Amino acid sequence: MKITFFSTQPYDKQFFTHCNEAYGFELEFFETHLGPHIVNAINQTDVVCVFVNDKVNAEVIQLLAGKGVKIIALRCAGFNNVDLQAAKQYGIHVCRVPAYSPEAVAEHAVAMILTLNRKTHKAYNRVREQNFSLNGLLGFDLHGKTAGVIGTGNIGKSFCKIMLGFGCKVLAFDLVADKELEGMGVHFLPLIDILQQADIISLHCPLNEQTHHLVNNATIAMMKKGVMLINTSRGGLIDTPAVIEALKSKHIAYLGIDVYEQEEKLFFRDLSSNIIEDDMIQRLMSFPNVLVTAHQAFFTAEALTQIAHTTLSNIQQLATQKNIDNKAAMLA
Ligand code: NAD
Repeated sequence: MKITFFSTQPYDKQFFTHCNEAYGFELEFFETHLGPHIVNAINQTDVVCVFVNDKVNAEVIQLLAGKGVKIIALRCAGFNNVDLQAAKQYGIHVCRVPAYSPEAVAEHAVAMILTLNRKTHKAYNRVREQNFSLNGLLGFDLHGKTAGVIGTGNIGKSFCKIMLGFGCKVLAFDLVADKELEGMGVHFLPLIDILQQADIISLHCPLNEQTHHLVNNATIAMMKKGVMLINTSRGGLIDTPAVIEALKSKHIAYLGIDVYEQEEKLFFRDLSSNIIEDDMIQRLMSFPNVLVTAHQAFFTAEALTQIAHTTLSNIQQLATQKNIDNKAAMLA
């Protein structure tokens, strides 16, 4: 059985090739995104394996069906980039990796908080230039601060536990309160209360119609002046122009983003010799209190091993039993 990968990076090839020794699939790797332009280049493949910025819309799915593709395997958790209805219509199975080291993403969110707060990135550069002054590096104690967590699934839950360890008061909003977290001292409250009370807000819900631009002019106005906002979930949760205005007015005092609404044209490639045409990302990067990382929160050896293993196991189960034991992995 052949699997064709899109948006392949060297590390994908490395981890999947190694993991595939136990499965024996035929693997084909394309560096390009999946799109209508490339479907013609696919030759007799049963499975396409895609990542977060491959746009798998109805047009692409129709073309894939025409090529005889039976399975679309996402090697990520979020699936906002796939038209599941169209996949069902064309009888193509869609699977994902519902959980792979949620700690990797939660720990990256915390790394962003610590960097923004204690300015270690600036201190590193400063000391290398023999500038040992502390002016401009003032931070605050996390201990005793209020962390607001939106979405307490696998990642949000791990994040809550870390913040409790720092001695933070942790408030959370989710569609369903998590009993284990409540037992640990996390308070589940309506969204508006989180926005009003949190010193740090971290987004861990999926991107869908309800959560699109969850952070907008109206919700920012409810936040504390001086709030820190962290987004390691999906760029579309944030209305970027509204956040830029709030940074300019100092309502938002710190912003950490690992995801960006227009990231598919930027992230996962070296554009250091290019002219960036996206003025919004350039504006964001010009603020001294904004930290941008390029969708790297998942990027640990443990997570990549788990992603490769779960993806290949999903494909094997779909091929042999038309189903996956882990129901959360099966999308269509
Ligand atoms: P999950 O499905 O385990 O948890 C999502 C949680 O969000 C659930 O508890 C769900 O009830 C809740 N939720 C859904 N709609 C909500 C709403 N309207 N308001 C509040 N909560 C809502 O998912 P996860 O594994 O924790 O991942 C969360 C998100 O993180 C993914 O959807 C993905 O977009 C993102 N992610 C990013 C990276 C990265 O590298 N930056 C890696 C993995 C996942």
